Amino acid sequence: MGVDCLFCRIVAGEIPATIVRETATTLAFRDIDPKAPTHVLVIPKEHYADVATLAQGDPGLAGEVLHTAAVVAEEEGLTVDGFRLMFNTGPYGGQEVFHVHAHLLGGAPLGPMLC
Ligand code: AMP
Repeated sequence: MGVDCLFCRIVAGEIPATIVRETATTLAFRDIDPKAPTHVLVIPKEHYADVATLAQGDPGLAGEVLHTAAVVAEEEGLTVDGFRLMFNTGPYGGQEVFHVHAHLLGGAPLGPMLC
């Protein structure tokens, strides 16, 4: 577990979350402050700080995060009209929680850019 990592604590069940899908290696839960009608965060259970660290450290696990996101997108009914999947990375990327997470956003037109 990362030291004082919020999302590690969600994985450990120490902080409540609305979990929509769980696999052996990944967890998907609703964002506490949704920026779209559907806003789910998808994380690896193992702690990696950001997507670059994850992709270089364990490409297979990165693929499992993407697979879980795709399954949740299907389950949430987002695949017909489309959705956005994004990783804020580092301070300039707007990352606030340093446990890698994919934002899965959909349910309405999102426009060309979402900050
Ligand atoms: P980022 O800015 O990419 O690091 O995004 C962090 C996201 O985590 C934000 O969208 C927050 O709303 C979300 N968030 C923070 N705390 C929680 C929590 N306890 N449960 C669910 N989502 C959270």
